[in-house]
Amino acid sequence: MLLGHYGVALALKRSEPKLSLGTLFVAVQLADLLWGVFLLLGWEHARIVPEYTPVTPFEFLDYPISHSLVGLIIWGVVAACLYYSWPTRDTTRHWQAAAVVGVAVFSHYLLDVLVHVPDLPLAGNDSPKLGLGLWNYPLASTIAELLFLGIGIGIYVAYRSHRHPVRVFRLTLLVLILLGTYFASQYGPLPPDMTVVAVSDIIFVLAAAALAAWADRRATPAELEAQRLSPR
Ligand SMILES: [Zn+2]
Repeated sequence: MLLGHYGVALALKRSEPKLSLGTLFVAVQLADLLWGVFLLLGWEHARIVPEYTPVTPFEFLDYPISHSLVGLIIWGVVAACLYYSWPTRDTTRHWQAAAVVGVAVFSHYLLDVLVHVPDLPLAGNDSPKLGLGLWNYPLASTIAELLFLGIGIGIYVAYRSHRHPVRVFRLTLLVLILLGTYFASQYGPLPPDMTVVAVSDIIFVLAAAALAAWADRRATPAELEAQRLSPR
């Protein structure tokens, strides 16, 4: 899953406005970011099998560190602790914000279970594996992706505030890039090998997060002043 994860990030942003959307974009995709790193390190394995499912050409051979239930609970706790201990002057609702980061990390497992064929282990690679296999139904999986993203955008826009506005141009650009990447990955040519997949996965997750942080910038003092003076 791709777009659905970002839908969760957009919705969670409004549950705790002090969180940057950039932070949440990394959190919901931490599993895929780690997966790219572990592939390059040779700790996890996948291969390209054309038509493995109608939606994705990847056979995930083993990825218990980045994509198991237990793994994602642990990464969620680690991410929450990291966020909590990160130096900041704004410590209001800090526990809550850290918990939201943890939930965002863990949500990756639940959403992936929806689309993957049964290859998501509970713990180690020999443990039972989950996956409802929506990837076998391209239309249904695209609808699910767009639905999650659409609901996320809806919540993000509906719960904006003076301090945390919607920057329409930036948000539109971000959404178009996400959609473009999703459809290119579905209908574009097969990647040449897993190294290219891993490197582009890492670059994409980080670039999308940087773009999200830019799109989600809170109102500057000048903008707040302008809002105060504008007639309503
Ligand atoms: Zn994943």
